[in-house]
Amino acid sequence: MPKLLLLACTIFLLPATQAQKVAKLKITILSTMLADTHGVGEWGFSALVETDSTRILLDVGGRPTTVRDNAAELKLDLGGIQQVILSHNHFDHTSGLTAIRQRFPDGKTLSTAYIGAGFFLRDTVPVGMRTPDSLAYTASGGRFTVVERFLKIAPGIWLTGPVPRKYPEKNYPLNRHIHTAAGTREDNVSEDMSMIIETPKGLVLLTGCGHAGIVNIMDYVQQQFPGQKITAVIGGIHLLDTPDEQVAWTAGKLKDAGIQYFIGAHCTGINATYKIRELTGLTKTTCLVGAVGMTFDLDHGITTGWLR
Ligand SMILES: [Zn+2]
Ligand SMILES: [Zn+2]
Repeated sequence: MPKLLLLACTIFLLPATQAQKVAKLKITILSTMLADTHGVGEWGFSALVETDSTRILLDVGGRPTTVRDNAAELKLDLGGIQQVILSHNHFDHTSGLTAIRQRFPDGKTLSTAYIGAGFFLRDTVPVGMRTPDSLAYTASGGRFTVVERFLKIAPGIWLTGPVPRKYPEKNYPLNRHIHTAAGTREDNVSEDMSMIIETPKGLVLLTGCGHAGIVNIMDYVQQQFPGQKITAVIGGIHLLDTPDEQVAWTAGKLKDAGIQYFIGAHCTGINATYKIRELTGLTKTTCLVGAVGMTFDLDHGITTGWLR
């Protein structure tokens, strides 16, 4: 076969995902407990994802105006960002939705909200998104898109949908229940989903609270992207009240996955983040407690303000 034809076939046979990796990526934390030189901290989470082809918001914070105001202080324009991911239905991830929509009344901003299947089972429980918020959102023209399984939402960007619970991690508030027509069951936040960004340097995993369990999430992601290493884990992973032995087991799995960067924001817990730094062999520049304004990008890794 002539050399040129062989080359053409090789390119043609590349997996679709390989051809659509994100070349440029910047993630900025807009809501978490700590704030750096700009913005305020709160109990909540939100991060802005910017790539060469799109901008997407994951979660919208715990108080209605935190993400809107922190973004303005950080000189980040949220106007025109069409897609928002609500990682799960806890108010500390959903409360800014209406305030951001109202700040940018172009009809386009945050017009598509992705939610994991089962998101509204918690609608009547006080910990979830307030019913008036979800009604105000749909009344303003916003549309909820339910994610049942792995879904590509932009070039190189995927959502896990609800994650199978292979390991009994239980990284969620215990002793809560869901009441459905089929009866009462433990509330294991079954709708919890995460975002994956494919880059030439490996997969970047962004979580809200990681209630599905970060090891379960990584295991599920590795099944979908065989042979690709997970280079960064960023977000909340709810280890704040997890026994030390389980934190150590989690750190071992993060190390096995090949992570080079870790930002433990929101419910990860400060002690758990430092334990992960120690046990994975990461450093004070590659494993940090997340703060508002902290960024991760492919060229510079993690960038902080004054807070170290
Ligand atoms: Zn949370
Ligand atoms: Zn949560």
